[in-house]
Amino acid sequence: MLGHMATEEAFLTDETTIAPPRVQCGAFGIGSKSNPGTSEGRMTYSDSVTTVLQLREMMESFVSEREWEPFHDPKNLSASIAIEAAELMEHFQWLRSEELESVKQDDTKMAEIREEIADVLAYTLSFASTLGIDLSAALADKMIKNAEKYPADAFRGKFRRDNS
Ligand SMILES: [Mg+2]
Repeated sequence: MLGHMATEEAFLTDETTIAPPRVQCGAFGIGSKSNPGTSEGRMTYSDSVTTVLQLREMMESFVSEREWEPFHDPKNLSASIAIEAAELMEHFQWLRSEELESVKQDDTKMAEIREEIADVLAYTLSFASTLGIDLSAALADKMIKNAEKYPADAFRGKFRRDNS
């Protein structure tokens, strides 16, 4: 499956169907009021159908079932985001530019990268919940600032005002 995900578009259609939990994690099962779309005890997670709220609840349930709230403070979570981001970067360390494309053809490597970006996202969601940050609003607000800072007409095809 991973070997067929050669285009960016293909990644957007990647989806995971999670069977009834073998480990204790209510968020992966059924019965959550924001997770009504279940079928035969299975919940399909995909960027095209899953909401940010559902992802946040997945993390909150995971943490709360383990009573890990005392450890999930902003200091530990911000460090964890950076640590997982470093683990993600490790997969590309020392690769030459011309080798980057071949990563997409390596199913094992793509599976490992997929896990690391999930780790980054998991801690990001948890961090936002800990401080009561609405991620959708935060991203939209920041993108408005970015659009003002980098007007498309001035920065099309370049990342500095004066480079070519
Ligand atoms: Mg990791």
